[in-house]
Amino acid sequence: MAPQDSAFVFPVHDLDAAGRDLAWPVSPEWLAAALLDTPLTPRGQAGEVRVHVSKIGREVLVRGRVRAAVSLPCARCLDPASLDVDAALDLLLEPAAPVVPAAPARADRRGPKRGPRAVASEPEAELGPLEAGRDVYEGEEVQLDAFVREAILLEEPSFPLCSEACEGIGPPAVPGAAPDPRLAVLANIVSLKSTKE
Ligand SMILES: [Zn+2]
Repeated sequence: MAPQDSAFVFPVHDLDAAGRDLAWPVSPEWLAAALLDTPLTPRGQAGEVRVHVSKIGREVLVRGRVRAAVSLPCARCLDPASLDVDAALDLLLEPAAPVVPAAPARADRRGPKRGPRAVASEPEAELGPLEAGRDVYEGEEVQLDAFVREAILLEEPSFPLCSEACEGIGPPAVPGAAPDPRLAVLANIVSLKSTKE
C-alpha cells in the first residue's frame, strides 16, 4: 500500500473521545530519510513523538510534541549549527473524501482554486478543509510521518547560526591587528591593476 513503512501510525477504529497516549522514538535513520531534500541533518540521537490521540465523530484529534536533534549549516560560516526541535504537533484530521464533489458553477468563473494560498483578497471565497488548517487521513489508520516531518521543517530558522558570536568565514577583524596576508595579496592585485590603468 504505502510506498514505505510509516513509522508513526495508529488505527482509528477503536479510538474514542477519551483517546489514548502514544509515543514513538524518532530514529536517526527515519530523520535522515525524511530530511533528505532539506538542509537539516540528524545529529545521531533518537528523537521522540509523543501525542494524545482521540476521536470525535469521525474526526481524529492529535495533540502532542515532536522532539528531534538536528543540525543545519550556519548562515555565516557553514559549520553545523545545532537545532533542538521541540515542536507542537496539533492536528485535526477528517476522513479523506472518496470523491471530490463537483465545484459549484459560481466558483468556476474564477477558475480552479488551487492550494491553501488562493487569493487572500477574496474574503468571500469559501474555505476548504485545508484552508481551515485541517487535514485528512485515509483508510482505517492515521499515518503521522508527513506531519512529523512538516513540524520539524517548520522549526528551521531562516538565519541559523553555529553561535551568536559567529564571525563568519575567516578570522575576525581585530582593530589594530595586522591585516590578513590573504587580503594583502588581494590588495596588491587591486593596486597593480589600478596602477596599470
Ligand atoms: Zn558559524
